[in-house]
This record gives sequence, C-alpha cells and structure tokens, in this order.
Amino acid sequence: MVIHTYGHSRTYEPEALLKLFRPAEKFEFSTEPEPPAEGEYFSAVLLPEGDARHLICGVRIGGETRSSDKMLPPDTPNNILDREISGLLYPLLCELTGIRPQWGMLTGIRPVNLLRKFAVRTGSLRQAEDDFRNIWHVTDEKTRLASEILSVQQPIIDAAPENSVSIYLSVPFCPTRCKYCSFVSNSVSQMGNLIDKYYMCIAKEIDMVGDLVLEYGLTVDTIYIGGGTPTSIDLYQPLDWLHRNFAVNQPLREYTIEAGRPDTITRESIGFFRQFGVTRISVNPQSFQDDVLKAAGRPHTAQDAVDKFLLARELGFDNINMAFIAGLPCDTVKGFRESIDRAVALEPESITVHCLALKKAADFYQSLPMPEPEAVSEMVAYAQKTLKNAGYRPYYLYRQKNMAANLENVGYAKPGFESAYNVMMMDDSQTVLGIGAGASTKVLGGKRGIERLTECKYPYDYLARFDELMKDKEQQLRELLDSQRRQKNG
Ligand code: SF4
Repeated sequence: MVIHTYGHSRTYEPEALLKLFRPAEKFEFSTEPEPPAEGEYFSAVLLPEGDARHLICGVRIGGETRSSDKMLPPDTPNNILDREISGLLYPLLCELTGIRPQWGMLTGIRPVNLLRKFAVRTGSLRQAEDDFRNIWHVTDEKTRLASEILSVQQPIIDAAPENSVSIYLSVPFCPTRCKYCSFVSNSVSQMGNLIDKYYMCIAKEIDMVGDLVLEYGLTVDTIYIGGGTPTSIDLYQPLDWLHRNFAVNQPLREYTIEAGRPDTITRESIGFFRQFGVTRISVNPQSFQDDVLKAAGRPHTAQDAVDKFLLARELGFDNINMAFIAGLPCDTVKGFRESIDRAVALEPESITVHCLALKKAADFYQSLPMPEPEAVSEMVAYAQKTLKNAGYRPYYLYRQKNMAANLENVGYAKPGFESAYNVMMMDDSQTVLGIGAGASTKVLGGKRGIERLTECKYPYDYLARFDELMKDKEQQLRELLDSQRRQKNG
C-alpha cells in the first residue's frame, strides 16, 4: 500500500493508524501531486484555499475508493493536523475493511495515561470516558477497562514518598532466545564471555547512582531487576551491591526480580533473593501447553513452571507474579483457557496477560499455525472475565506496536499486590534511575515534565564504551537532578 501525502509531510500518525488495519503491511511513500493511479493507497492532500487549508483524504482498498475532506485554519499545528488526518482516515478504513479496532483510533502505547490526561483537562472522568468513546472510537469495554485501571492506580501513585525514585537494573541476557522475542536480549551461550565484564560495569554504575541518590537526598521506593531473564546469571553479587547502595537504611515499598524462565530458577537463588529482601518475583510460564512452549522455543515444560512456582512459595515468597501470552503460535482458545484456569488454581498474587507482538521473527510465524485475531480477542476476554471472578483487578496496561488483534498487555493483581514499580513506571509519575545496558532512565521535571536519558541498548556497546558512557550519564543526571531540585524549591 502507498501512503501518499501532498502539501504537508505528516506520515507517522497515518502509518500507525494504517497498521491497526494492516499490521504486517510494508508501506511505500509518495509525494506526487496525485495519488497513485493503480493499487491500494491512503492519500492526505493539504491545499491552500482562500484563508484556510483544505484537507482531502482518500483510501483505496480492494478496488473500492472512499474519500472525505475538511477545511482547516491556516495555522493548524502539526499535532492537530495529525489528528484531523486520522479523524478522516479512520472511518474510511473501518468502512472499507470491516474492521473495528477495539482501541479505536488510539495508536499510543498508554491509553490509561491518555484517559487520565483527558480527565484532568476536562475536570471530569465521565467526560474523558465520553471523549474516549465518541472522539477516539474506543469500545465501551476498553473504555471501562482503562477507567477501572485508573481508579486502582491512583492510591498507589499517591502512596509514593516525597522525592522518591525507583531503581531499575537491566540484565539483558537469557539462557537461550525464545523464537517470538522482541526484546534486546542475548543468549548466555553466545554472550557468556561478556558476563564477567558486565558484572564489573554494573557494579561501578550501581555505585555511581548510589552516590547520587545519597547526595541528592532521594528516597528509593522500589527496585526492579528486569531483562532479559535476570536469573540467567548469578545474581548474588548484584543483589549485594544493590542492597548496600539502596536498601540498607531505607525500607523499600517493593523489590522485584523477574525470574522469568522457570529453567533458570533454583532453590539456591530463591534463597538469596529472600536474604537480600526481594519481596516479589515473576515466574513466567507464558503458556501451560507443552506444544505451545516447544513451538515458541522455550526449553521448559508447563510442569517446570508449576514446580518453580511451588518452590518459591515453599521458600516464603508471598507475592508471585505469573505471565502469559495470548496469541502464541499453535495455541488455541481452549488451550489458553486451560492455561489461565491452571494459573488461577495456583493462586499467584498477580497475573499478567500479554498479547503477542507480531513484528519480530515474521518468518517464524509464517511457518506455524497462528491463532486468528478473533481467537486472540476471545482469549483476552476469557482471561479478563476469569481473573475478575477469581478476585484479581486490572491495574496496569500498555500496548505495543503490532500486537496480535491490536489488543493490550494487562497486569491483574489481588488487591494490595499491584506492583508499584509497574504502575509508577507506566504512569511516568516517578523518577526511574536505570542501570545496565538497555535500562531506561527518566527524571521527573524539565520542560516536558519528564526527561529521558538515551540508553545504550546493546551489551557490546555498553561494555566497549562504558567509561565514556558513565561520564556522560553522571553529568546528565546531575544536571537533571539539579534542575528538578530548583523546580521543587520554586
Ligand atoms: S525469556 Fe523473554 S527476553 Fe528472554 S528470550 Fe525469551 S522472550 Fe526474550
């Protein structure tokens, strides 16, 4: 399909919107005066007309063409132009494809944040919900879901101590790579030789961040060790360094380790997680269907996940998360229902339901039977209903590009077991100091409300340029924390 623009150069939003209807499509771009004479296209032309500008959008799909237009003021800013283009394009796409995306025109990854913004701007949650439905075409069901999550999150956000931060340690290694993986994660077998150096570098970075936390009088609220699969390496030393720098004199609200793959969890490691004050771990089966796990390249069985969950319980963990993916190759609605039912029977404190992101490893998907979008919607709906009936509440949500059926990832938890880190991080309501390759750092304050530090995604680069990176990072962090302090002091 061709994305044709003339008289402006706004292509990002239309492309994101088109991907809701054509997730696997590769688009070509044209800036000729006229849309293509043949083939499928989306066209947005902006022409001066008197004192105004005339926006004309057209779509041709399957030989059918539809168009729509609108007059705009001459000084329409780009963000409003994006919205106007999307507003004209969306109904045309729905009509020509017969598809009605459940999140409507929303292409961003954080619809709950958007609902909160609308509620603040209009002064009314009811009005914000109406805007969601009527302007953005979000279904009633998804509007209710976003609204419920908003209300669950507020007390968690309000409970953050003054001047608090979360610490995120990234361990971008996994024992082997799952076939559907869309993260920057490296298999230990390929990168094993780098791990000693990685320890040395994160030790220095933890110390650097620890000194800044002390110097700026910050309160560490939560620590989160994520990946990758953090448990694919020996975490004893990193836990010790984190403990000394961030947890000796201050009680943490939460301390999470993504244990992730059951094949990496041992009695010994769970033992020292407890010793260092870890309060919450994730054991992620992703599916309780062995054939699905095998097709996904996960070298463990459903029973392995159950065994590791029970081991964590036996060793005293009273806050365990389990994660599942709807839409994995070879899975069926029946199989997914069984996975959710089996998880509920184990009674973890929280369960995360992801939808498969389709972008990476497209060849892999083409060679295996994939659940249809309707089946993925059914899986997600079943999880939502079953978890609600079992006493779990949805408490955080995010979307990714190219998700199966354009759905969402949702974290469900029993009341009181919501992950504060997940909520605060998704809501951008707390400074997060990231450590390690691929870790994201964001500091509240500044003109944009939040400032992000560019991270070095790949372990090779992180290790090769470590000294230079740390020098820059410390300087940037100091500038951001100084500015945050100045803003607080008026
Ligand atoms: S465990 Fe997660 S991060 Fe690691 S390879 Fe599998 S999907 Fe990727």
